[in-house]
Amino acid sequence: VVQGSAEDIRADKKSTTGQYLTGQKKIERVRAARGKAKRFVKLTGCRENNLQNIDVSFPLDRFVILTGVSGSGKSTLLHKTLYAALAKLFNGSIEEVGRFDQLYGADQIRGVVLLDQSPIGKNSRSNPATYLKAWDEVRRIFANQVLSLKRGFTPQHFSFNVDGGRCPVCKGEGEIALDMHFMADLKIPCDECEGKRFKKNVLDVTYKGKNVSELLGTTIDEAFEMFRDNPILHRKFAILREVGLGYLQVGQSATTLSGGESQRLKIAATLDERSAQNLLYLFDEPTTGLHLDDIQRLLTVIQDLIDAGHSVVMIEHHLDLIAQADHVIDLGPGGGERGGGLIAEGTPEELARHANSITGKLLAEGGYFDLTQDREPSIVDEPPPL
Ligand SMILES: [Zn+2]
Repeated sequence: VVQGSAEDIRADKKSTTGQYLTGQKKIERVRAARGKAKRFVKLTGCRENNLQNIDVSFPLDRFVILTGVSGSGKSTLLHKTLYAALAKLFNGSIEEVGRFDQLYGADQIRGVVLLDQSPIGKNSRSNPATYLKAWDEVRRIFANQVLSLKRGFTPQHFSFNVDGGRCPVCKGEGEIALDMHFMADLKIPCDECEGKRFKKNVLDVTYKGKNVSELLGTTIDEAFEMFRDNPILHRKFAILREVGLGYLQVGQSATTLSGGESQRLKIAATLDERSAQNLLYLFDEPTTGLHLDDIQRLLTVIQDLIDAGHSVVMIEHHLDLIAQADHVIDLGPGGGERGGGLIAEGTPEELARHANSITGKLLAEGGYFDLTQDREPSIVDEPPPL
């Protein structure tokens, strides 16, 4: 990471940030626009907080972005109304639902998932393998090796969450936190297990030449090859690779993942559920604070979700992303009492031609589309009756 002024960063051609600032890199389009949708979820009479009794159609099977200035009502519409209403229906959620009249088209989807940037867990033992419950199967495999059977080891001996095979000193963490009083804890490798997290006699057990500690240190790509003949693990590691996490270590602590990696891990967990088909994924500003390379990877995963038969609606400010949406819903015109209206909707290009949309104006200025050809500003056709 380079520290310094924007000038310094621009001058440093090797830094990825520098490549973006000099215009060498931007968020690249990863998929062609998909055209008008055939299926919709629709809310009528939305009037929670500052929403002005608006009817909103959310196209399905498409990459939909909800835009508007801060305070325009985006979160109220996406989170408090759309998500809360669908979560009540599909998940039995008791979260309070924002006021609206009617919800149409919920029968067209199989479920709803809201993904935000909340951390995956404060437990440093949580990692990609435990998050997808792959470690349960790994423990079973290790407990079935000849040496394990001889020594009477059970799957529990290969857990770092419970006593049995884990190092009793660091309790399976591989490191010890030193209490530094008024400073943040300092962590040092555990002397007892030398950071290997398990007891010596448990580490004697190997599968394809690796003990559990070594397995935790391998990449997901390597583990994918290693467990090719195990359908459960092969599938789980394949999903982690699909969301671009193949380079992570199997046992990498979730607390060390970047915001983008955490979000892709959460997506992987939803894909791992057998019933995961035709879901509506809602994202609340998923790219905030992410490095541009991380945004590019997340965008690819999101587009893959849609190609796999899911639907996506997300709140987003990044123009490079808005420009590649299939459909944009723009709220405004301002924030607070001046917001809550449906200003424009349509393709990003249609928005760029829309006189009243601030987002459209920014898209037009961004040069994403050739707007020289005259065309009437258009609002998307009304969806067919549901
Ligand atoms: Zn230890």
